Amino acid sequence: MIKVRGEDIENMEMLNIGVVGHIDHGKTTFLYRITGKFTDTHSEELKRGITIKLGYADTILEKDGKKRYVSFIDAPGHEMLMATMLSGAAIIDAAILVIAANEGVKPQTREHLVALQAKNVNKIIIVQNKIDLVSKENALKNYKEIKEFVKGTIAENSPIIPISAQQNINIEEVRDALFDIEIPKREKGEPIFLVARSFDVNKPGTEIKNLHGGVLGGVLKKGELKVGDLIEIKPGISKKKSNQIIYEPIKTKITSIQRGKFSIQEAGPGGSLAFETELDPVLTKADSLAGCVASLEGKLPEISNRIKIKYKLFPEVLGEEKKTKTEPLKHDELILLSVNTTTTVGQIINIKEDEIEVDLRIPIVPIKRDSLGLARNIRGHWRLIGWGEVL
Ligand code: GDP
Ligand code: MG
Repeated sequence: MIKVRGEDIENMEMLNIGVVGHIDHGKTTFLYRITGKFTDTHSEELKRGITIKLGYADTILEKDGKKRYVSFIDAPGHEMLMATMLSGAAIIDAAILVIAANEGVKPQTREHLVALQAKNVNKIIIVQNKIDLVSKENALKNYKEIKEFVKGTIAENSPIIPISAQQNINIEEVRDALFDIEIPKREKGEPIFLVARSFDVNKPGTEIKNLHGGVLGGVLKKGELKVGDLIEIKPGISKKKSNQIIYEPIKTKITSIQRGKFSIQEAGPGGSLAFETELDPVLTKADSLAGCVASLEGKLPEISNRIKIKYKLFPEVLGEEKKTKTEPLKHDELILLSVNTTTTVGQIINIKEDEIEVDLRIPIVPIKRDSLGLARNIRGHWRLIGWGEVL
């Protein structure tokens, strides 16, 4: 048993929680309250609209002498980022759905709940936020509205906890509820590490001998990885070759592992992680490897620009105020797919009942039965229209 700063991190129960809900309902403020960390650190990226990233924050919860390590993933607020929310759902064990008491159930509240349902994330805590802004009477009215909204869904029996994230009221109740969530069974077998971010952690001007290797941030979906392991990262680095973009897998060695602020030797599923590697940090800077998958050398399938998917469409388009029916998928149509931490656009080249074949702009590592989200561009917005799995 290795203790790090007095905490037995490697043997602690791990839980990954997605925080979802309509924009401005208080997700980031709530996360700050519970973890002491601001996750909204990607505003510059968002402004440029180039990359879409998930925010991470961790905390150790304690109850009756027991400890639990909880990683939170802050769903991006903007509606266009729904696909990322869904890909985040590939790695979450449970979710907190934030609903502001003064605004009630909004289009994204619905969309996120349906997405969770599609991904079978059925452990949900509902946080009724901003109770400081409403009268007792209206808080109760809103509570009834939420009850009505979740009727017949996976969140039907979820606890609804009134809080004020801003005024720091009732946060303890949420901590308690997080302790009541059952830890899912972790899958054994070959490790699958989903890269959500990648960095160059060196300050400009650092001497070469003091340089840190490239860092990968993300989540182990299954299996274990330890310091010293030789890993392979796919699709890897993109390169331009005679007007075509090709991807080259990279091999490297793990030199250290961080879980939040703790340094560990071995990591298992659940909770976000950072691996330092022997890679030249130039290769990992600015999230260049985000969306990749890593495993032990030789254990990943070949990357592919063409995949087959089994899919289902939601009856209604999600995320819009007005309800519209989902039109069937069409041959040649461009769709947005989110698989694990990758988001890529693809063209449908074959449709057969509940199966499609898609030509992808960015290749993926096609791991059988991985679930994915399907979005379609409707009046300039990518809207979630269904889900599926890799065949
Ligand atoms: P997000 O878009 O869901 O991440 O929402 P934010 O956490 O960014 O919050 C949106 C706005 O609501 C900010 O101005 C917060 O200060 C405010 N806010 C968040 N929680 C509360 C609350 O409990 N009470 C009040 N009055 N305002 C809140
Ligand atoms: Mg936010």
